[in-house]
Amino acid sequence: MTGILDAIVIGAGSAGLGVSYFLKRHGYGHLVLERGCIGETWRTQRWDSFRLNSPNIRSLLPGDSPDLSDPWGASTQHQFVSYLESYVERHRLPVTTEAPVEVLSRDDGLFLVATPGGVLRTRNVVIASGSLNCPKRPHASVELPTTLRQLDSSAYRNAAELEQGAVLVIGNGQSGGQIAEDLALAGRSVFLATSRAGRLVRHYRGGDIFNWMTLSGFLDVPRSEFVLPSGKLPPRALLGATHTISLQSLSAQGVVLLGRFVGLENGRLVFGDDLDDHMRFADESSADVKRFIDDYIRRVGLNAPPAEDDPAEVVAPRLPSPPIRSIELATSGISSVIWCTGFRGDFRWIKIADAIDDDGQPIHQNGIGFVTGLYFSGLDFASTRKSGTIPGIAEEAARLVNHLVGRSAS
Ligand SMILES: Cc1cc2nc3c(=O)[nH]c(=O)nc-3n(C[C@H](O)[C@H](O)[C@H](O)COP(=O)(O)OP(=O)(O)OC[C@H]3O[C@@H](n4cnc5c(N)ncnc54)[C@H](O)[C@@H]3O)c2cc1C
Repeated sequence: MTGILDAIVIGAGSAGLGVSYFLKRHGYGHLVLERGCIGETWRTQRWDSFRLNSPNIRSLLPGDSPDLSDPWGASTQHQFVSYLESYVERHRLPVTTEAPVEVLSRDDGLFLVATPGGVLRTRNVVIASGSLNCPKRPHASVELPTTLRQLDSSAYRNAAELEQGAVLVIGNGQSGGQIAEDLALAGRSVFLATSRAGRLVRHYRGGDIFNWMTLSGFLDVPRSEFVLPSGKLPPRALLGATHTISLQSLSAQGVVLLGRFVGLENGRLVFGDDLDDHMRFADESSADVKRFIDDYIRRVGLNAPPAEDDPAEVVAPRLPSPPIRSIELATSGISSVIWCTGFRGDFRWIKIADAIDDDGQPIHQNGIGFVTGLYFSGLDFASTRKSGTIPGIAEEAARLVNHLVGRSAS
């Protein structure tokens, strides 16, 4: 192609589509290039019983009104993909599917976007290729024998697809907690190696927690206020889609709770002495969010029902006594390990100086790249707690597109 486009958006997930919506509203000529199908990550990286934990009314993309039959319901990934497809159709967004961007480079002030169909030239690029679609595994995974099946949470579908035997789930964030429960409900014997992950209740004081977190401004807290002293970001707290899931409730369902997975030593799986700390951390994080909401209710004088106990938070856990610090792998009956240890984005195809750092992650401020005309949308925790979630897209996409259009006009 010889023409020069005003903008190219890379990725047709919620972030890319939100950006495309605003570019279109500004009458800005652009294309959205998607390597697979619309909503590819939701189609290929979720387990069968998955449901979104942002309720329907909070999972709308910009320009859509909350005309929903089940506003507080939790969509399946298939329903959400259908929603994304209808969004593209209704707003007539210029999406090209099966168009992977293989290399993004820069020449003579323009971006060169290389796809199997040819190289496109554009003045601006918005990268919305996802920051949570490449699974991360700790190094300890390479020590495990090949007789053990290892898979990432994104490859897990259901208990029946796994080999007979017990399952070791590693990590108790969003995916780990939900997958451990999915396996326990299917009657599997489950070990859960825990970490310092927070927890959220599903309902509180008569409302959905997502609604309270939105109204109270909890989701708008800037990144600088919750980034860890190490500069790392905390994992997202465990939030069940339809009900609260806690370490206590998993334990009461028969999941064997362990400390952090350390590695394999002399044929034994070794775990840290930190389960108590992890349970305390999750309890405190849940209490912190409730306090934030209580303060808000008090401040604005809302007549909300009093705080109630959540069954998953008050159920007595059945903790192993004494705590388990190691397990003989050969006799454990464990046949599968599911790594629920987080995700990152894959930006290796960006070949532009100052666009990504030594760790392969975007260099940006609130989604605005340091290279003129380069933007990143959908990055987890980019500027606030809401960044990187579906409810965060409308605000972020509007801001980035305003910047892009304003800069191009000047
Ligand atoms: C298990 C899990 C559950 C989650 N549940 C929720 C939830 O319930 N609610 C919520 O708000 N958030 C949830 N999130 C967070 C979620 O990732 C984001 O809310 C949102 O989906 C991110 O959207 P995105 O468009 O940035 O990324 P994605 O949805 O990953 O979209 C990126 C798109 O870019 C495409 N792409 C990638 N590379 C290229 C390339 N080189 N060329 C062309 N296309 C490319 C991909 O195929 C993909 O379609 C969840 C995350 C995980 C991991």
